[in-house]
Amino acid sequence: MLADFAAKQTFSNLEMFKKAKAASKLSWLKRDTTKFNTGSVAITKNGVHISGLMESRTNLLDITSEQATIALSVSKKDPHINEIVTVVEYEPGTEFLVSPIVIKILADHTRRTGTVINYTIFDKEGETLFTTSDASKVYNIYVPPILPLDKIKDWVPQANSHKITSEDKVLQLRNAALKGMETHFSADSKTSYGSAVIANGKLYFGGVYSSFDHRMNLHSEMVAALAAIMDGSRDIETVGIISNKFIDELPHMCGCCRQFFSEIQEKTKREIEVFVFSFDGKQVFRTKLNEYFPSSWHSGLSFDERQISKK
Ligand SMILES: [Zn+2]
Repeated sequence: MLADFAAKQTFSNLEMFKKAKAASKLSWLKRDTTKFNTGSVAITKNGVHISGLMESRTNLLDITSEQATIALSVSKKDPHINEIVTVVEYEPGTEFLVSPIVIKILADHTRRTGTVINYTIFDKEGETLFTTSDASKVYNIYVPPILPLDKIKDWVPQANSHKITSEDKVLQLRNAALKGMETHFSADSKTSYGSAVIANGKLYFGGVYSSFDHRMNLHSEMVAALAAIMDGSRDIETVGIISNKFIDELPHMCGCCRQFFSEIQEKTKREIEVFVFSFDGKQVFRTKLNEYFPSSWHSGLSFDERQISKK
C-alpha cells in the first residue's frame, strides 16, 4: 500500500500546525506580495491530505485550502475526514473572521460522509484562532440531514496520480480521466465527469466535487489541476476530460475551467493542450488552450506593477 495511506495516524497540535504551515507554501496566489494566505491539512484514519489556497485572478474561481484538501481526499477515495487544521496568515492589524462559507463546505462534507470534522484554525505563530469539535454544528440555522453517499461505502484509498509510461500518452490520459470519473462526488447527480492532467511526467486525476448549492462546485478539471499543483507539479501541459453523460458526444470544457487553465498557463508560460473524449471512445477533440479560449480575462496590471512599468 502507499506510504501516504499508512496505518492510522495521530498528530499533536504542533505537528498539525507545522503540516498546515508547510501546505501554505504550496498556495497558488495571484501576486507574490499577497497579504493573505492559508494552508490546510485534512486527516483521515488512512492518511493526510494537504493543500494551499488556490487563488484566481477572477476571484470568482478561488478555492479555499479547506475545500481543496477535501476535494483531494475524495480524489484519493479517502473522504472520511476527522480533522481539518488550517494556518492563516493575514495582515497584522486586520481582524480575522472565520469564513461561514468554509464552515458550510465542511458541514456539507459531513452531510455526505457521516463523519464529523473537528476544525481548528491557527495563526502563523501557532495561536489558536478558532476550534470546533464538529463543524456541522457551528451554525444552528444550517443543520442538514446526514445522508452518506452510497458510492463511498466501497471505496478503498488510492493514489490520485501515477507516472507516465512509454505507452500511448493520449490513451493514458483518457484512462486517468476515467479513474478520476469514479470519484465524482455528488448527492444528486446520476452522471459523472472525470479529468486528468499531465505535469512533470505524471498523470493526476480527479472527479467533480459538487456542492448542495451548485455554486461552490469544483469541476473535475479543477480537481485534477489541484492534485498536480498541490503535489508541486505546477507545469501542467495537458488536460483531458471525459463524462459518462456524453456517450457519443464531446463533453467540452466550460468557460470557468477554460479561464482557470488559461490563468495557469499565463503563470507557468507553458502552453496547455486540451483533449476532450467521448465516452464510447470514438471521438477525440484535440486543441491548444489558446485556440479553445483565445481571449481569456486578465486583470491587467496592478497599481504597483503599473508604477514599475512607468519607470
Ligand atoms: Zn468546468
